[in-house]
Amino acid sequence: MGRGLLGEAGSRIAALEARTAAIVTDGHVGPLYAEALAASLQQHGLRVSIITLPPGEATKSYASLERVCDAVLEAKVERGDLVVALGGGVMGDLAGFAAAVVRRGVRLVQVPTTLLSQVDSSVGGKTGINSLHGKNLVGAFHQPSLVLADTALLDTLPIREMRAGYAEVVKYGLIDDPDFFAWCEANWRGVFDGGPERDEAVAQSCRAKAAVVVKDEREDGDRALLNLGHTFGHALERITYYDSARLVHGEGVAIGMCQAFRFSVALGVCPPADAERVEAHLSEAGLPTRLAQVPGGCGTVDELLDAMAQDKKVKGGALTFILVRGIGQSFIARDVPVASVRAFLQDEN
Ligand code: NAD
Ligand code: ZN
Repeated sequence: MGRGLLGEAGSRIAALEARTAAIVTDGHVGPLYAEALAASLQQHGLRVSIITLPPGEATKSYASLERVCDAVLEAKVERGDLVVALGGGVMGDLAGFAAAVVRRGVRLVQVPTTLLSQVDSSVGGKTGINSLHGKNLVGAFHQPSLVLADTALLDTLPIREMRAGYAEVVKYGLIDDPDFFAWCEANWRGVFDGGPERDEAVAQSCRAKAAVVVKDEREDGDRALLNLGHTFGHALERITYYDSARLVHGEGVAIGMCQAFRFSVALGVCPPADAERVEAHLSEAGLPTRLAQVPGGCGTVDELLDAMAQDKKVKGGALTFILVRGIGQSFIARDVPVASVRAFLQDEN
């Protein structure tokens, strides 16, 4: 990772010794960066084709998967060749899943272009699409052969997407690294402005995610800590119908992390001052922290509980939460009684 890496993409990717690369991108990112990436690959002797899909979460679908798989085969990508995902988490997940299944698996290169994808989705090997039954329910583990994160690409990212990705950066501090959270409080402006702090935040986040994934690739244990804020956050996304005009993932996570802290306070395991500090920082960075900030509202307590119960992390009706004893002290709480969640949500509303 680093600023300006896209210019070196050709030499880095050529080192993988493939002959053909199919670049999969979306209609926002493609016009900005696909030609430069393709040119750099061609200079290093690769045969390149570009597949462009509509931007947005709706593109993580069976229909798009079919389009990508057929286009990749059309581009004559053989075993040993490459699918290159150029875009945010939507492209990474979709192209990554296509790479996992085309010819029973071809190699994948991730070129993440959102802060969220640079610090989270491009690392760890989870790929997939959405089903009528829910988000990310059809997919595969397929590790990339290379992740190339050029932090300069974030210069064109809309500020709202930047903030959303920043919520996931802060998450790594909250999970188990109080010093990193304090660093975020002091340095967040540089992350947004594209200073050296941005590279540092991306690098530290990737190290944190990689460390968790190396220990628990298939989420049998501690990888679940990465879901801090996500049980509440996913419920909010579901309740707002994944309508990005109302809520994007990172905004749901920001509110969800604050709720995880306030819930932990309500359960008597976390000092209130820590919850206040988290809320103050996220809100200073321009993120929502309360249910009341969701445009159009977020339903009744029962609707929220229903939305939570649909989460795939729910086992046998009991709720699993990532709770905290303080900043940087998260833990997995299984079998959290629905009654205590209900009482908490009633207070929140
Ligand atoms: P996204 O891919 O939809 O990108 C957000 C928006 O920014 C899109 O409109 C995109 O076209 C635009 N964009 C991207 N890069 C840009 C750039 N450099 N300049 C200008 N515009 C740009 O959203 P996202 O937040 O990156 O990813 C969200 C997805 O990631 C969700 O589907 C989520 O499920 C998935 N995800 C996966 C994992 C994983 O481990 N696989 C982890 C977290 C999230
Ligand atoms: Zn997330």
